[in-house]
Amino acid sequence: MSNKCFSLALHGGAGAKPGHDYAVEIAHMRGLVEAARDRLAAGASALDVAVETVAALEASGLYIAGRGASPNADGEYELDASLMDGATRLAGSVAALQGFKSPILAARAVMEKTPHVMLAGQGAIDFAAEQGLETVQDQNAWFTRAGAFEDNHPPEALPTGTVGCVVRDAEGRLAAATSTAGVFGKRPGRVGDSPVIGAGTYADGHAAVSCTGQGEYFIRAAVAAQIAHRVRFGGQTLEAAAQAAIQEVAAFGGHGGLIAVDASGTIAMPFASSGLKRAALLPDGAIVSEAF
Ligand code: ASP
Repeated sequence: MSNKCFSLALHGGAGAKPGHDYAVEIAHMRGLVEAARDRLAAGASALDVAVETVAALEASGLYIAGRGASPNADGEYELDASLMDGATRLAGSVAALQGFKSPILAARAVMEKTPHVMLAGQGAIDFAAEQGLETVQDQNAWFTRAGAFEDNHPPEALPTGTVGCVVRDAEGRLAAATSTAGVFGKRPGRVGDSPVIGAGTYADGHAAVSCTGQGEYFIRAAVAAQIAHRVRFGGQTLEAAAQAAIQEVAAFGGHGGLIAVDASGTIAMPFASSGLKRAALLPDGAIVSEAF
């Protein structure tokens, strides 16, 4: 099977700071793309690869998601995640989930084990516990940014860092997954775009999209669905659609970036921010991994 049959992109957030050395993250993202390529070559589905890749990004502790989560203004860890399967148009999501290691696995369970799309707060916690998902026993020992609260930026600055993955598999199926701790210093209960289907995550038969950045703006612009709909109903190329949507975020005064793949496997990774930690397997088999 040729690797021209599939492609993928992943991101580690739009919060890349100018002047910072992201060599560790760039090497890590490249390794995940190589692992995902091997899984796709063996016939894995877009959905499985998107979830596995986001779970690995969460577990690394290198990004502001999963183990690398930053606390909210009360010092609590409220995590959001979602995924969408373009082939079935099924979706799952959790918001303000506390006490579990992998929010993306909880989101997948919502999709597969309930008639719902989104569970939030205590309901999400109770459901994840019922599913036997792995809990965080000692948050100070688990979260890699446990001591970082003092260094947090003021909430109005909304610094960011999310993870995500979009995949086109060898059968042409598309999927998207996104996971985050949200913006630094957020109010308790604040939910951004990442768990909102159509805002931070979307997939249909035309495009799969995962966003990162100041979620309030991505919700208002319905960025992820907007891109898929520009392609589907407007006949735009993925690149043109993605650029138009990210420019709308910028026009609102927000910043961020996104990764997207279309039915032909074309990848777009535009950003209107200081950088975007991202990597991709392109349709020609080339791998890129970069932060700026
Ligand atoms: N979009 C995320 C949120 O607003 C943050 C991020 O991408 O870093 O919650």
